This record gives sequence, C-alpha cells and structure tokens, in this order.
Amino acid sequence: MTDTGITFPHGTLSDAAQLAADAPPRSFASFAVRPLKPPPGQDILPIVYFAVRCASCDNDAFHIGSYPMAAAGPSVGSDVPPEEAPPCPPHRLRCAGCGGVGSIFDPATDGYDGILCGGRSYQKGEREVFTGGAFNLHVTAVYNIGLPELQDLAAQAGGGVKPSDLFDWFNIFGTPVGDDEFFQADYECA
Ligand SMILES: [Zn+2]
Repeated sequence: MTDTGITFPHGTLSDAAQLAADAPPRSFASFAVRPLKPPPGQDILPIVYFAVRCASCDNDAFHIGSYPMAAAGPSVGSDVPPEEAPPCPPHRLRCAGCGGVGSIFDPATDGYDGILCGGRSYQKGEREVFTGGAFNLHVTAVYNIGLPELQDLAAQAGGGVKPSDLFDWFNIFGTPVGDDEFFQADYECA
C-alpha cells in the first residue's frame, strides 16, 4: 500500500463493521467503494475504512466539496480565504477524471441521525466550494451500536434501510495528489 498518511488501526472488524464491509452504507452509493482489510491485531474494530473510486471512470482522485464558513458572508470570518476555512458538510466529491459529482456525506440524510432522527444540523457556509487540488480518498463508517440492535433499528425504519446505513460516525481522509495539506474531517451522526 502506498503511503496514504493515514494510521490504520490493527485488529478484526466487529460484526457490524464486517456487515458494512460486505454491504456498504447507501450514503456512499454514488461511488465505487472498496473496504480495506485491517492489518492483523488484537482489537475488535467498530470502524471500516473504504477506498473511493469513481463509479463511471474508475479514477481515484477527487476534488472535495464543502460549505466553508468563510463563504457565509462578510460577518463571518471574512478575512479567511475559503481554502483555509474549516470544511463544513454536506460533502460532495468531483471526480478529477470525468468531472462527475456525487454526494459522499450529508448529515441531514446520512447515518443514524440522518435516517432515524431527521438529520443532524452542522453549521455551514452558504456556498459550496471544491478544493483546487485533488485527493485520493478514504471514508469510514463507525458502529458503536451492536449488530442486533442495528438490525432491529433498520427493520423498524423500513424503506430498505440496511444496518450499515446507520453508522454513528463518519470520517473522510484525503491524501493530496499534489502539494496540498492532508484533508481530514469527522462527524458524529448519532
Ligand atoms: Zn470519473
């Protein structure tokens, strides 16, 4: 594996994380995601890492979209250029190969809160901004709730909701293709 800048935890996937590896959350359905098998270790891991590729052209480099607060208006951080403002969700990705755009995480509709609780609201700017540079991406889904309870919740939700859709944390890691800084954001979803 090439150096991603990410420290992957060692261990074995938990039952819920393994189920997500086998049937990734629908939040990631716009992309071709591949679960990573963790390096061997003693821990039971509630987290599964996915490498992200374009479902149309198989490219693995993306520009990351967000709603930085600096773009909100003159009253909020107007002296901070968008590329230096903290990224705010929702996040979409634009393929550096074919230009296709899809959603990877929207706290209003994705994860435990998004599906079961009407969404979690995060502060965000008014305008979507994509990174100038491209990134190789890993995203994670985290499951702190045991699989039996997740299965019950998914069944109660109906509408084809899978247990893996109900992740309670989401992380996005971007390893720059060029000279940009490493990109990381994480969000609680439950
Ligand atoms: Zn593409």
